[in-house]
Amino acid sequence: MKLLQTALLASVLAVLCSPAAMADAKNPKIGFSIDDLRLERWARDRDYFTAAAEKLGAKVYVQSADANEQRQISQIENLISRGVDVIVIVPFNATVLNNVIAEAKKAKVKVVSYDRLILNADIDAYISFDNEKVGEMQAEGVLKAQPKGNYFLLGGAPTDNNAKILREGQMKVLQPAIDKGDIKIVGQQWVKEWNPTEALSIIENALTANSNKIDGIVASNDATAGGAIQALNAQKLAGKVPVSGQDADLAAIKRVIAGTQTMTVYKPLKLIASEAAKLSVQLVRDEKPAYNSEYDNGSKKVQTILLKPTPLTKDNVKLLVEDGFYTQAQIDGQ
Ligand code: BGC
Repeated sequence: MKLLQTALLASVLAVLCSPAAMADAKNPKIGFSIDDLRLERWARDRDYFTAAAEKLGAKVYVQSADANEQRQISQIENLISRGVDVIVIVPFNATVLNNVIAEAKKAKVKVVSYDRLILNADIDAYISFDNEKVGEMQAEGVLKAQPKGNYFLLGGAPTDNNAKILREGQMKVLQPAIDKGDIKIVGQQWVKEWNPTEALSIIENALTANSNKIDGIVASNDATAGGAIQALNAQKLAGKVPVSGQDADLAAIKRVIAGTQTMTVYKPLKLIASEAAKLSVQLVRDEKPAYNSEYDNGSKKVQTILLKPTPLTKDNVKLLVEDGFYTQAQIDGQ
């Protein structure tokens, strides 16, 4: 009895000394603030992330800002007042979160930037695929299919830092071909919110402006590639003009197999989501994450985990089934 009392007293004392720390390290509370769950990939990120975090003993609270920067800021404030230990953010606008992140830091909440880098803010870590490499792969894919002619560069959202990094990667590959006079950039535009309908009208206009003489389109993701291919299709050019993408969206995989999209880039979402869950829990537990890179976000050098993307064409599309990203039935389905 006496022994039991002493043990009880000791544990009560321990909890009193450090109530938050004790409870949180074992079962951390994670807030996941996602730009836009309406897009195929982000819903998968959420599911994989939640499953991996729960396996590590954490509880996840998910919020989607639906491409609204004010909503994302309020949702992050809300997560802070709920008492989460760490907030993982896919930013809609990379440049507007510094104040709310300062609030998080004041409340001793760790902040992880997920897939897209948050600029000018005191974040603890960043995890992403190597976006410069993704951009290189996109340009290489189009250049291989069409080494000469008029090129259009269809960029991502101007609010997304990835859009700029992708462009840097694309230009690394395209510049030598431009210098040689093999290809000519006849137009380039950023696509607001990565919106396919906006991409469609940009390419419609570009085709009109160039009397349909566009020989290659370097599109920065599958959603915008879809819009571009719709515009090409209306001019009977789908399948004749190479188009790149990224994400291995199911619709894009079907286009790659049909030959209307030249390539996409496969980024295993289960990998980034589970690595991010591990990283978040490690930050709360004061353990050392396995960083392999570093990015300057304008306010600090951010410790980063960079993962490897894989280019995907008709030839290696079966990798998706082998990897469990899709079933063969999903790929074959209507
Ligand atoms: C991501 C892409 C995604 C795009 C639109 C980018 O930041 O890296 O995978 O297609 O956002 O959501």
